[in-house]
Amino acid sequence: MPDAAKQEYLVGVDLGGTKILAGVFTQNLKCLGKAKTSTKATRGADAVIQRIADCVIDAVDECDLEIDQIRGIGLGAPGAVDYDEGRVIIAPNLGWENIPLKKELEKKLGAPVFLENDTNICALGVYNVEFETKPKTMVGIFIGTGIGAGIIIDGKLFSGFNHTAGEIGHMILDVDGPKCGCGNRGCFEAFSGRQSIYRKIQTLVKDGEKTILTEMLGADLADMRSGDLRKALKKNDKLVEKVVEEAAEYIGLACANIINVINPEVIVLGGGVIDALEDEMMAIIVETAHDSALSGVDKGIQIIPSKLGDNAGIVGGAVLAKRETK
Ligand SMILES: [Zn+2]
Repeated sequence: MPDAAKQEYLVGVDLGGTKILAGVFTQNLKCLGKAKTSTKATRGADAVIQRIADCVIDAVDECDLEIDQIRGIGLGAPGAVDYDEGRVIIAPNLGWENIPLKKELEKKLGAPVFLENDTNICALGVYNVEFETKPKTMVGIFIGTGIGAGIIIDGKLFSGFNHTAGEIGHMILDVDGPKCGCGNRGCFEAFSGRQSIYRKIQTLVKDGEKTILTEMLGADLADMRSGDLRKALKKNDKLVEKVVEEAAEYIGLACANIINVINPEVIVLGGGVIDALEDEMMAIIVETAHDSALSGVDKGIQIIPSKLGDNAGIVGGAVLAKRETK
């Protein structure tokens, strides 16, 4: 067994559909070093689990530490997670069903692993490091390939009956809206998720609308990234402007629903789409949310962008590992 006195460091891992990010932290949540690798989900669960373990080892090595100096590893997975058993129940982006991730990783790494849903972990990270005075109630909405939320009530993560609370991406905003990956129509994610934004642009281009993106990326708009949208916006591209504004309006509507239902003190927005398009989206989101929430119930509620960016997941993982190894 590793020497308990030496185990003072924490690792946070963000397992995404396209990349794995691991960070090593002190007990004060200071990041000492990071490592990143691609997920390669198509190679299957065993291969991905090995890639997670390798990424953790790389991050630890980057900090000139040994794995037996790690007290705990907190990991966020994109899907429904059985926290107690450390099992991924279902993760559609990875093609996973019923994967005993905690057990397999502990076997490979020899350190305790704690598993949570990825957006829950991001919310934990944001809540623990972004506020000097902690709000009692906070909802973190994370907009990337998909959309998810983490709900903090009275300072604690709210997980719901089946531990799946926060599936805000599948809140239905328009029953006649575009088809969502989940099978329903008009989900929030089908309007404002990264893939939905890309698809909308591609459809409009097929319909004959003009955008500078075709000059940048070619007619089929392959390999579009959030950064490309930002570049197009800087050049006053009307098509991208229209699509991004519409996506922002739907984010504002989702915030209005959250304000009406949960009435949190703060809504924090994060994830790749917000990181890339914060300047273009935030004002529209805030205005739409306050215009659409019930009159008066939105008084004093703040809607702000996260400062952690891409690091929310690894910081939250470290917060979880710290909480569980106290
Ligand atoms: Zn859906």
